[in-house]
Amino acid sequence: MPFTKLGLAPELLRAIEAEGYTQPTPIQTGAIPVVLAKKDLLAGAQTGTGKTAAFGIPLVNFLLKTQKDTALVMTPTRELATQVMQTMNSLIGKGNIRTALLIGGDSMHKQLKHMKRNPRLIVGTPGRINDHLKRNTLRLNNTTFLVLDESDRMLDMGFTPQINQVLETVPKK
Ligand code: AMP
Repeated sequence: MPFTKLGLAPELLRAIEAEGYTQPTPIQTGAIPVVLAKKDLLAGAQTGTGKTAAFGIPLVNFLLKTQKDTALVMTPTRELATQVMQTMNSLIGKGNIRTALLIGGDSMHKQLKHMKRNPRLIVGTPGRINDHLKRNTLRLNNTTFLVLDESDRMLDMGFTPQINQVLETVPKK
């Protein structure tokens, strides 16, 4: 199904077009309708197959169509978090959605400044996300969209306690 038939927000369709995506890739064709239907999804695909946009497109659509709900994307590494944030920013395009990148080794001062602006999309690594939860500078009470990117790798890297902490903090639904 083409992007134009998925019922996406017009500003998101414009951003997808500006990115030069014409047809959804197979992982996108499989994943996007399921996530738009608000179902939980576990999906696997190789790097380079468009997996970031497979969750990014329904995520940005969700943020454009809601007002107080927020989204969290956890990735195993800082590099991946930075790349995911770049993809998200291009999908957000001119849409008015504030974001924050919470990764280790980066300035806490800068992150605290971004958190004060009440971002609706957080992308980050498990350790730093948990630091912010402990400091109460990150609240997840409106986080109804959660992505665990490369979850197998996060579990291999020993992030189970941090992931569990997030799962206990987000709303049950
Ligand atoms: P990823 O698998 O998320 O690392 O994406 C690999 C590359 O595919 C990125 O450079 C994306 O910009 C690009 N991409 C994602 N979706 C599409 C699409 N539907 N059509 C063309 N390129 C895409």
